[in-house]
Amino acid sequence: MEIVLFPIIVRPQSDSNDNDNIEQIDEDIAVTQSQMNFICPITQEEMKKPVRNKVCGHSYEEDAILKIIQTRKQQKKKVRCPKIGCSHDDVKGSDLVPDEALKRAIDSQNKQSWSTL
Ligand SMILES: [Zn+2]
Repeated sequence: MEIVLFPIIVRPQSDSNDNDNIEQIDEDIAVTQSQMNFICPITQEEMKKPVRNKVCGHSYEEDAILKIIQTRKQQKKKVRCPKIGCSHDDVKGSDLVPDEALKRAIDSQNKQSWSTL
């Protein structure tokens, strides 16, 4: 008689059914990333397209910081980092990189607030 071993099939978590795992991850992000970090220091609104300043590490809404850089350029002035308490006073467009991690954190927080409402 032949013994057949059936492998245990681990199904990936599906969104519609048991999403305990996914919610757990969302909670971790919400705790480690304070909600204030999602707020653009320029617009005071939650960022939709966050970009991070490579020099000082602060993030802003892309459109808002680019507008400031453009305006200050016309005035031939340097751009001070709009984040309160930051002493960086030479923000350049070339120093800004898309902040994918922050965007994901914002997205996942929004998803969470929808599911808990
Ligand atoms: Zn800064």
